[in-house]
Amino acid sequence: MGMRLFDTMTRSLREVETNEPGHVKIYTCGPTVYARAHIGNFRTFVFEDVLRRWLERRFDKVTHVMNLTDVDDRLIKNATEHGVTLDEETAPWIAGFFEDVDALGIRRAHHYPQATQYIDQMLDLIDKLEEKGAAYRSEGSVYFRLSAFPQYGRLSGAHARELSTGASGRIDADDYDKEDVRDFALWKNVGPEEIGWDTRLGRGHPGWHIECSAMSMTLLGEQIDIHCGGVDNIFPHHENEIAQSEAATGKPFVKLWAHSEHLRIGGDKMAKRLGNYFTLHEILEKTDVRPSAVRYLLAATVKYNKVLNYSDDSLHMATENVDKLVAFNDRITALATTGAASEEISDGIAAASTAFAEALDDDLNLPEAMGAVFTALRDINRVLDTLDAVDAATQLQLQGFIATVDDVLGILDLVKRERSAPLAEDDERLLGERQAARDARDFATSDRLRDELASRGIAVEDTAQGQRWKRA
Ligand code: AMP
Ligand code: ZN
Repeated sequence: MGMRLFDTMTRSLREVETNEPGHVKIYTCGPTVYARAHIGNFRTFVFEDVLRRWLERRFDKVTHVMNLTDVDDRLIKNATEHGVTLDEETAPWIAGFFEDVDALGIRRAHHYPQATQYIDQMLDLIDKLEEKGAAYRSEGSVYFRLSAFPQYGRLSGAHARELSTGASGRIDADDYDKEDVRDFALWKNVGPEEIGWDTRLGRGHPGWHIECSAMSMTLLGEQIDIHCGGVDNIFPHHENEIAQSEAATGKPFVKLWAHSEHLRIGGDKMAKRLGNYFTLHEILEKTDVRPSAVRYLLAATVKYNKVLNYSDDSLHMATENVDKLVAFNDRITALATTGAASEEISDGIAAASTAFAEALDDDLNLPEAMGAVFTALRDINRVLDTLDAVDAATQLQLQGFIATVDDVLGILDLVKRERSAPLAEDDERLLGERQAARDARDFATSDRLRDELASRGIAVEDTAQGQRWKRA
């Protein structure tokens, strides 16, 4: 059996299938680059990274596109206030985004299209929709005509129905220009002084939804296999993407819709507009939390489509799991290979490998997969306690097992980086004080400082060449 994922459209587990044999085309909605993405956003991006990593093991080829939304009303407002161009406004946020992507060990997408570079493709798509009667002009703007797409609302169900009965009760300023309040903007008209593009549709800028339809069509073709985002993308964004794409091509746009649940904090969705968010940058700067622990927390403590709460406890649990995995990896790396084969170890690895793959095939359940891994590590650790060495083949098996797990989990490279990072200023100072204490033969102080450093994760050793430190 192949890999199954929960499909938001049919509300059921569906096998991942591809239009092109062996080649998965996946589109994931990326950040709006008007501020630094927070770790809630990164819960979704890490989910998509884990999905991509597992797909890469299960299929010959994966092509992954993630857009950067670099034009929207907030961005235009900010750029106008700062007196800069849109590109100047977004450049630092885009750089910050990639810094965090790398810090969390996220494999880079194959394409990161920016909306501002696909204006022509959006205009072509709008033309097509006009030709088909699915778009109309009003007061210089262009709107999608929902009545031309009766299938509207299949993805979000209740949300779309509420909208059609006007239950949301909200009337936007542009509602008076539309034939129907449900219609949404494809192109928004702006004045001569405002940031925009002079085009055959007049001066304006694109609506948010059209960018993803145009960019996925350009880079991946009219039909894609998997489309992802956080649950808040389901309505209206993804619903509108479906309407635009399918009204233009007459073909099903997406085979499978996968959405991740939110990261919450104190019971609320972590969101920029609520002000209850942390960026990765802030966390790394202000606390001693490591990137590997943040990645583990987001990827592997709670299944991607269940709510995850960000708290000291959840971070602590993630850190402990990282430490267990790293300790095991260190142990098998240092294992002597002058011993014999161990059937118990081989059997344990075989069983855990099967359980690991089954959990990931069953709706990308990485927490359950890691449960099977940790059970195996506990059992193997017990066997190793009774042995001084194994044979080379067993050690290779052990290393292969951890490598397979980490190919999806993506933790060990981050740990390697963390271990080789320069010391923090405070640790550097404590080491200096300890050296001074030793020079003064004040061993009580030197021992106390050694303990303090140990509690900060720095193990100090005294050698003939002086003290040496390493990260525990
Ligand atoms: P945005 O920059 O607002 O367009 O969001 C980028 C991505 O982050 C989207 O896929 C959102 O669904 C997702 N997202 C936003 N807030 C959260 C959250 N608290 N938890 C998980 N994903 C989120
Ligand atoms: Zn999108």
